Amino acid sequence: MKKASGSQEKVKLLKCREKIVKHLPDLGKVLRATFMKWYGECGTKGCRCHKEPRYQHGPYYKVSYSKKGKVYNIYVPHSKKNEVKEWINNYNRVWDGIEDVSEINIKLIRSGDKR
Ligand SMILES: [Zn+2]
Repeated sequence: MKKASGSQEKVKLLKCREKIVKHLPDLGKVLRATFMKWYGECGTKGCRCHKEPRYQHGPYYKVSYSKKGKVYNIYVPHSKKNEVKEWINNYNRVWDGIEDVSEINIKLIRSGDKR
């Protein structure tokens, strides 16, 4: 097998990098948080959710995020559930993309002229 020359390899890496960048999610639609589903008791006295754990209300949704060492929980309305989940998913995809691009850039540093 013929070994790819340095410039061929470089072109391949640049194409690959371009593809990754093109498929990155919209940075306006990211959220650094953890999505959580929970069940809970209500405030109604005598409701059976207070007596029987399996009659808890829900599911409810919230996101948990940390800032300056403090953890915050934000209630997420059902109507926003899917959108919020997508934002969190996008956030993770952005980081995966950064990792992949970094790996390619490391290869680009190493490839080519050795001066
Ligand atoms: Zn209840």
